Amino acid sequence: MNLTLHLTADCNLRCRYCYETHRRVRMSEETAKQAVDLAFAAGHPKNGFSLFGGEPLLERGLIESVCRYASDRAAREGKAVRFKMTTNGALLDEDFLRFATAHGIEIALSHDGLLQDVQRLTRDGSPTRETLEPVVDLLLAYQPNAVAMQTVMAENVGRMADSVEWLYRRGFSRVNTAIDYRPDAGWDDGSMAVLRAQYEQVAALCERQFDTERPLRYLNFWSKIAAYLNNRPCLECKLGVRQPSVAPDGTIYPCNQFLNLPDYRMGDVTSGIDKARQWAIVQKSLAPEPDCLGCAIADRCRHHCACLNFSLTGDMHTVAPVQCEHERILIPIADALAGRLYARGSVRFLQQYTGDELAQ
Ligand code: SF4
Ligand code: SF4
Ligand code: SF4
Repeated sequence: MNLTLHLTADCNLRCRYCYETHRRVRMSEETAKQAVDLAFAAGHPKNGFSLFGGEPLLERGLIESVCRYASDRAAREGKAVRFKMTTNGALLDEDFLRFATAHGIEIALSHDGLLQDVQRLTRDGSPTRETLEPVVDLLLAYQPNAVAMQTVMAENVGRMADSVEWLYRRGFSRVNTAIDYRPDAGWDDGSMAVLRAQYEQVAALCERQFDTERPLRYLNFWSKIAAYLNNRPCLECKLGVRQPSVAPDGTIYPCNQFLNLPDYRMGDVTSGIDKARQWAIVQKSLAPEPDCLGCAIADRCRHHCACLNFSLTGDMHTVAPVQCEHERILIPIADALAGRLYARGSVRFLQQYTGDELAQ
């Protein structure tokens, strides 16, 4: 079973696009271990925990304790366990990287490349890129495949592709770009046109690097290409089943954006998941998005993400126009890139034609 553990609502940075309400609320060790027990009690051979914040490393002791607890339980019961964590890196050091690597914690670093000092600031508004430089070296030494998670704001979109390239040259082979979708983010026809050109620029970079020793795996593209090549369409969300969220107080919700909403509460770590409630939420999430019926790219579009829809439109089945437009820009560019790699007979591309590697 997979669970997201919301270890803290607090953060040591103040990124300009952050939508979190920072509060000094933390999960207790007892609650975290109960969440682990709940996941293992489901009886699945594999268990996964996303260590989530705010900034999860503010709760480093809790992370170490819960990972040891889950790893011990997995070893005793002959089950698999894995952990994922996205951090802003400010508190990441070699001791923790040793621990993370020993316990199989896959770390992603939030980093905006050339835009880091424009968008990602400390609480007092200071820049963060310089202080992260040694952290980047350490992370890549311990986890060479670590993903750099970039966010782009509408006002800075013209530097997106250069930032992706900066992250690649800095040593990240896997980069993901998230769009700042906040309602007041300011996307308009002009910035969307720039976004399209920026994606084209990143596609050209991917194409140039694809057959080199260290190709750039730009996850925005590869997730779309792999879904097509591996015939694994993304048709549904499985809200409440795929990755329920555990709030700091131990209450369970269907996914991140539904945290602390009483209407979506579906149990807690002590009494377990209310199956009838969970089933009702799954059923609700399976209804189609009316605006997407008949769309030719629906099988690879994120229109089904209840979290994204709910956070942008207040309805899990209503897709925000900016999100629809983004998918209409991204998917054809990803397809064109795949077409060019195929046409030039890229051995790596052909080898991966039916493999899963592109999506990783
Ligand atoms: S590091 Fe994450 S949680 Fe913290 S301010 Fe930035 S976006 Fe928000
Ligand atoms: S591109 Fe737009 S209409 Fe098509 S599936 Fe995605 S959100 Fe729906
Ligand atoms: S709401 Fe989005 S993030 Fe959550 S399970 Fe569904 S698709 Fe995944």
